Amino acid sequence: QKTLENKVAFIQGGSRGIGAAIAQRLAKEGAAVALTYVSSAAGALDVVREIEAAGGRAIAIQADSRDEQAIRGAIRHAVDTFGRLDILVNNAGVLAVAPIDEFSIEDLDRTLDVNVRSVVIASQEAARMMDEGGRIITIGSTNAERMPFAGGSVYALSKAAVAGFTKGLARDLGSRGITVNNVQPGPVDTDMNPDQGDFAESLKQTMALPRYGKVEEIASFVAYLAGPEAAYITGANLTIDGGFSA
Ligand code: NDP
Repeated sequence: QKTLENKVAFIQGGSRGIGAAIAQRLAKEGAAVALTYVSSAAGALDVVREIEAAGGRAIAIQADSRDEQAIRGAIRHAVDTFGRLDILVNNAGVLAVAPIDEFSIEDLDRTLDVNVRSVVIASQEAARMMDEGGRIITIGSTNAERMPFAGGSVYALSKAAVAGFTKGLARDLGSRGITVNNVQPGPVDTDMNPDQGDFAESLKQTMALPRYGKVEEIASFVAYLAGPEAAYITGANLTIDGGFSA
């Protein structure tokens, strides 16, 4: 049985990796899906085509998550196309790793714009469109809780910021029956964090389950949170990390 029939989902950053898997999974559960990308037009189109081939509905919208008006415009475009908005997934993210004395202000600004500022803007715009039962789900990181290697300070900062935002926003929107949650993955095999090489092996050594996660495993958790059975979960930072932070 499909859990998201007649729902509309907007996925910020859905062209590759975890976001693409979330788009596929929410569509499989019956949701119409609007997904954004900044540079991977081909990847975004592939996701749309696969969803359509399986009988679902999807659109791809180019919208840079650093651009306030682009984010707002994309959300409005999704509502114009599908008639409503039920689920926002803030997935777009960037990772810049460097020791603090070499960390550029350009990378600081980019990290904060994409990983934090876009989450606030999209949540504000989406919340205006949502009715009772709405869902706001951000993809944070287990690095908000544990950052066991050097060079990740700004990334950890950005993911801790959305963890705090999630708690506060849940209080703003709870009386309207809208839930707000933050999914904190551990290492997941994507372009951002490929499951190969010395770095990947060293991360596995720190985990209870010594393996990378699959994008489908994160997407499955997001689908649960987006569905009706998760109505009592809000303001929660939910780690799904193979025991990385255990
Ligand atoms: P990828 O690098 O594989 O994909 C990133 C996605 O975000 C792409 O769809 C990309 O679009 C989009 N994106 C990036 N910048 C922008 C922007 N400026 N505007 C619009 N879209 C943008 O990353 P992952 O799938 O690995 O990561 C997804 C999320 O999960 C991120 O928030 C990341 O921090 C988080 N995460 C990942 C972990 C991992 O180990 N992989 C672990 C914990 C958290 P485009 O293709 O157009 O560039």
